[in-house]
Amino acid sequence: MKETILAMEKYAIENNVPIIEKKSIAFIMKYIKEHEIKNILEIGSAIGYSAILMASSSQSAMVTTIERDENRYMECLKNVKKCGMEKKINVVYQDALELNLSEDLKYDLIFIDAAKGQYTKFFEKYKNFLNPNGTIITDNLKFHGYVGQSSKLDKGNLKSLVEKIEGYIEFLKNNPEFDTKFYDIGDGLSVSTWKEKN
Ligand code: SAH
Ligand code: MG
Repeated sequence: MKETILAMEKYAIENNVPIIEKKSIAFIMKYIKEHEIKNILEIGSAIGYSAILMASSSQSAMVTTIERDENRYMECLKNVKKCGMEKKINVVYQDALELNLSEDLKYDLIFIDAAKGQYTKFFEKYKNFLNPNGTIITDNLKFHGYVGQSSKLDKGNLKSLVEKIEGYIEFLKNNPEFDTKFYDIGDGLSVSTWKEKN
């Protein structure tokens, strides 16, 4: 598996695939172990790098991961096979905003790492598939240091994307249902858990 992971890191650099930073995935793997997380849903597989590492965190970790890009989906399947993880990782080729998961599937961890401009939509849709003790982790909340700097950016795609991530952070901070902790790890992570219900 180690060799496949290294080959994926190389492939990601050569093909501009934005895989998670090492410190961030280390944080998530530790979280999975410490919280005895079993069922994981990932939105945004890319080539399977984070899915494979999450699945390898513990014996009982199972991952369902969603990817809408055909090439990346194929690459992900290939890598899952190479690591012999077909039984632990289920790769779904679809747009996560169009997918209809069965209502009785519930996850202990949902990892949001797909289109950064749609984070709020992913969160609102997929919180319905989160266990009462479950956690939603989101990656790239710093977006290469641009987040918090949108007012200094010229009008355009980058500015509007950064504004959306800033909007997502506000959404999390003011969320009536979830408590969120923000971590300055890698490209920025958030960890959201249900507020206690009275
Ligand atoms: N989690 C991966 C990196 C994911 S990069 C890792 O760390 O190894 C983000 C991926 O999300 C891209 O491959 C992109 O094609 C995919 N994506 C973006 N929007 C999506 C959507 N709505 N549904 C499914 N996949 C999406
Ligand atoms: Mg990411």
